[in-house]
Amino acid sequence: MGQKLSVAQARSPAWIGKEVVVRGWVRTRRDSKGGFSFLELNDGSCLENLQIIADQKLENYESEIRRLGAGCSIRVEGLLQASPGSKQATELLAHKIIVYGWADPERYPLQKKHHSFEFLRTIAHLRPRTNTFGAVARVRNCLCMAIHEFFQNEGFLYIHTPIITPSDCEGAGAMFQVTTLNLADVPKRNGEIDYSLDFFDRPSYLTVSGQLEAEALACALGKVYTFGPTFRAENSNTTRHLAEFWMVEPEMAFFELEDNVELAERFLRHLFGRVLERCPEDMAFFRERIDPTAIETLERIIESPFVRLSYTEAIELLQGSGRAFEFPVQWGRDLQAEHERYLTEEHFRGPVILYDYPRQIKPFYMRLNDDGKTVRAMDVLVPKVGEIVGGSQREERLEILEARMAEQGLEAQNYWWYLDLRRYGTVPHSGFGLGVERALQFITGLGNIRDVIPFPRFPGWAEF
Ligand code: ATP
Ligand code: MN
Repeated sequence: MGQKLSVAQARSPAWIGKEVVVRGWVRTRRDSKGGFSFLELNDGSCLENLQIIADQKLENYESEIRRLGAGCSIRVEGLLQASPGSKQATELLAHKIIVYGWADPERYPLQKKHHSFEFLRTIAHLRPRTNTFGAVARVRNCLCMAIHEFFQNEGFLYIHTPIITPSDCEGAGAMFQVTTLNLADVPKRNGEIDYSLDFFDRPSYLTVSGQLEAEALACALGKVYTFGPTFRAENSNTTRHLAEFWMVEPEMAFFELEDNVELAERFLRHLFGRVLERCPEDMAFFRERIDPTAIETLERIIESPFVRLSYTEAIELLQGSGRAFEFPVQWGRDLQAEHERYLTEEHFRGPVILYDYPRQIKPFYMRLNDDGKTVRAMDVLVPKVGEIVGGSQREERLEILEARMAEQGLEAQNYWWYLDLRRYGTVPHSGFGLGVERALQFITGLGNIRDVIPFPRFPGWAEF
């Protein structure tokens, strides 16, 4: 009956001359005058299809094979042979074709060759069958494996921080509340919601970051990373924000900001290098169809060091640029997308690491500099996407941390355990977060973050 192969395996010359079995979905059928048909078969194992040759002598040729079209699922047994065509090394001469499932050509939504990304989002359950979304899925897989590989090689422990958390004011963004209270009849006491009747006895939320908990583990285990889903309820309908996204967050004891920056840069280089090395076919597809500079951009980044610039220097540079920005450039204000783009796309033409931000625009846990005005924050900005990494050296001095919390109106008692890390054996430590989808957006050149996660969640949308 033959060895069961994926399409990727069957496309390699290694199996020529062997009886094999492949299973997958038909992309196209072409009938030749010579009494046979060509089927293009895809099973997601690679971008390219396997060419199947189905002769009219096959018993179901007229009854079934001549009715096959886009979306039908089949199993093919046959002889793998060298292909005379220039597009592929092999082709499969079918001895037997079994149809698993039909796809009505009148109704199957992927009949047409080109669909808009907007339309494909409305059929997120079928879009993995297109070239673009297959390629995204394979690159996403490669990226996630490269993330683990990097940290494992560096001696980090993979840890899991909670998804449900009571910390409600980390400053990262609006949160989704988690409750088992009956929303149609919320229990009240003295006019306020009675959380003693809620599942956890208190308000709880979906996490916006695993950082605070990761700090607890780093302050015992040294170098750790947490990698999981993250949730933000801000109503930002942009091409760079999702309500549910994946973030990898390393946290390192005894790392100061310089060590943190150095690690982030080496980490990103490793990731881009691995994708280029392991997904050449998919990256060539992105270069051809999505962004002509996709491969070149990554290659350039791997070769040249990232620019490092303090926030203050960036402000001076922007003010001296002679550019009329829509949002004024002023020390103490957050940089807007247009400012980030000027730095990464026009001035430096590459990634920029900004550090030492004004204390008033960053969260309480970032370490205060001796100038009293700035904190040890760092963001990695890249062309087109903007911020892909955000991190900092954490404030390890108890009194200063308490003062910063008071300044931002946070109640110390809600953070008692976080403060304990500074009470007992405190150490300098640092960490950062990389948004997996932002990284994928940058790698693939896809314009909208909703197209680099299989089932995106954003305001007004959770269909699947
Ligand atoms: P931004 O200012 O771009 O909204 P942020 O500063 O709020 O991002 P951080 O809290 O620093 O983001 O989160 C760390 C990383 O997580 C970011 O650098 C980014 O890569 C990613 N990220 C943050 N928010 C989102 C989101 N809503 N959707 C997808 N990725 C996100
Ligand atoms: Mn940030």
